[in-house]
Amino acid sequence: MNEITVQSKARTVFIDITSAVQQFAAEKEMKNGVITVFVPHTTAGVTINENADPDVTVDMETALDRMVPWSGGYRHSEGNAAAHVKASLTGSSAQVLVKNGKLLLGTWQSIYFCEFDGPRTRTVWLKELV
Ligand code: ZN
Repeated sequence: MNEITVQSKARTVFIDITSAVQQFAAEKEMKNGVITVFVPHTTAGVTINENADPDVTVDMETALDRMVPWSGGYRHSEGNAAAHVKASLTGSSAQVLVKNGKLLLGTWQSIYFCEFDGPRTRTVWLKELV
């Protein structure tokens, strides 16, 4: 297993980690298999979505903020209940297929670390299965 470090610079931000995951596949000399991308945090997540138009991730951040406002009369005393809800909406893991050493993603797909309570230094765990 390996881990990568992600530095978020805003409360809510999607960060493209595709190249780091591709580098992991190369370092492991993977030919064909699957990589699990796991986010070990309760206020961050991971998702796969469009990389062509950067407005897409901005729209997703905005839509999640609209669905789950930061102030919403929550009970959680830490004050970041919205971030916990968003983390569960995106999920903690993604799986990506590897074929001939390359991540098997759609043309417009990238893997995004989803920060919901930044700025923070975060960890993402990667594990290959061949
Ligand atoms: Zn909390």
